[in-house]
Amino acid sequence: MNTYFNSGLPLCRPKMLPDEWVETYLFRVARANGIRHPRLSDAERFRPTLPATASSKPDGYPIWSAMTLPRWSVVTRVNKIRYCPACMTQSRYIRSRWRLTVFDVCTIHHIRLKDDLVEPVMTRGYRQENRYFVTEVTDEQLWAGAVCPMPSERRHVDRLWSGFERLIVENDTLGAFKQLTCILFLEALLDALASTTSEFESSPVGIPRSTNLAELVARYEFSLSVGLDGIRNFLDQITLASHRDVVLARLRRMSLEEARRPTFFSNLPIAALRRRLLVGAQENTPGSNYGPLHPGQAQTSGHLSFERATSLIGCQRRLLRHLIDNKVCQGASVVQYGSRRNTYLPPDAVQACTEWYASIATPEQVMNELGIDRNGFRALFSARLLRPIAVDMQRFFKRSDLTDICRRLQDLSRPFPANAPNLHPLLGEWIPSSGPYRPASLEVLREAFSGKFPIFRQMESSGLSAYFVDYTALERARRLRKVEVARHRHQKYSSNQPSLLLE
Ligand SMILES: [Zn+2]
Repeated sequence: MNTYFNSGLPLCRPKMLPDEWVETYLFRVARANGIRHPRLSDAERFRPTLPATASSKPDGYPIWSAMTLPRWSVVTRVNKIRYCPACMTQSRYIRSRWRLTVFDVCTIHHIRLKDDLVEPVMTRGYRQENRYFVTEVTDEQLWAGAVCPMPSERRHVDRLWSGFERLIVENDTLGAFKQLTCILFLEALLDALASTTSEFESSPVGIPRSTNLAELVARYEFSLSVGLDGIRNFLDQITLASHRDVVLARLRRMSLEEARRPTFFSNLPIAALRRRLLVGAQENTPGSNYGPLHPGQAQTSGHLSFERATSLIGCQRRLLRHLIDNKVCQGASVVQYGSRRNTYLPPDAVQACTEWYASIATPEQVMNELGIDRNGFRALFSARLLRPIAVDMQRFFKRSDLTDICRRLQDLSRPFPANAPNLHPLLGEWIPSSGPYRPASLEVLREAFSGKFPIFRQMESSGLSAYFVDYTALERARRLRKVEVARHRHQKYSSNQPSLLLE
């Protein structure tokens, strides 16, 4: 046992280098303090003690700000280390930006990132051949197999990423983070286009993603620039109906994801951008995709058909019909074609419905998104931690309530202790599904949400299954039940006593 570390603070504290990834930095600290083969536990021991790493979490996601990045855009600690050989030759450490899934090419050196480096005990696959330890790799090994992208791809990645990388290198983290928001937003939309555009879907396996996207951008002559205006400009260039549908669907999914787990995309006006694409499309192609090509077109020009509206909102036909009948969705016009009656809706009304529908969730969605089963759902519901909204005989829940539950737990919880034999899942069997102990347990669950009991969070689990309570919560439920029984007995006893006042 090394007594130097008993205080927790390492004796040698090397300076963190520009944009250095926290995880490999912690290993560097461990090595500087004489630990030749650091383990994960060494990194975790130092993490809370150093000002530069104290706010980081063991998941290994890169951090440039307190705002969260979308999960798809970053990789965790167990994913391969990627690097630019030229950057590494200049200074041997791993950069945070290389942990972004869609950052493929270094825009300083125009070299594609390689992935044959490992930090033992952290990265998977370090026993594979042709993998080198971060601390032992030679310059030749760093350069072996390095590839530069073709000029067209280089232009594409430059347009998107060079500003961000320049700001990161200049240590302007705030400016870089702002750029990153727009870059990842554009990347998400381009990915959506590429994954559903048939010619790119069937492209040969092994073609790097950025090569594919560069081709797509060149084929459709999209002009890309970073920033909110750049995003607006990109949306204005989408003219094909198939592209528009894909991007509208992706934007809708983004709104849903943001409601559930806000990331820095919440800084962008997603709903307004979606509306822009929707309305712009109607101005560019009147009637062809949205309105009718029948008599009555003049009357409903610019309106969306009922079918189109349900698919954009993403709800059932019956629900939209209910909203129209109850004047929640206003401005509907009905056009008679022989015996057929078609309903058309103004885009503003459809957009308002879309935003409203994106803000609520069905019980199934709640269970899915919180990662809980029916019993857990019933417990939250009975403890009045979920408030239902009734629409047309159906029950929905506000997504803001789901976000609130997750945030509250995140704020209240403390790390999962290393040896914890008696922890119980927050929504586990200690809350019986029926019987005399249920009301007391639900009361305790409510109290747990207001911070009266310790809640523990297990980092590896997701959703609400990550949270646990200890014996104090169970004890409290038992005590509450006893008090309840005693009160009940007392009431019964007093009602059997003759009243003195009446005598
Ligand atoms: Zn580089």
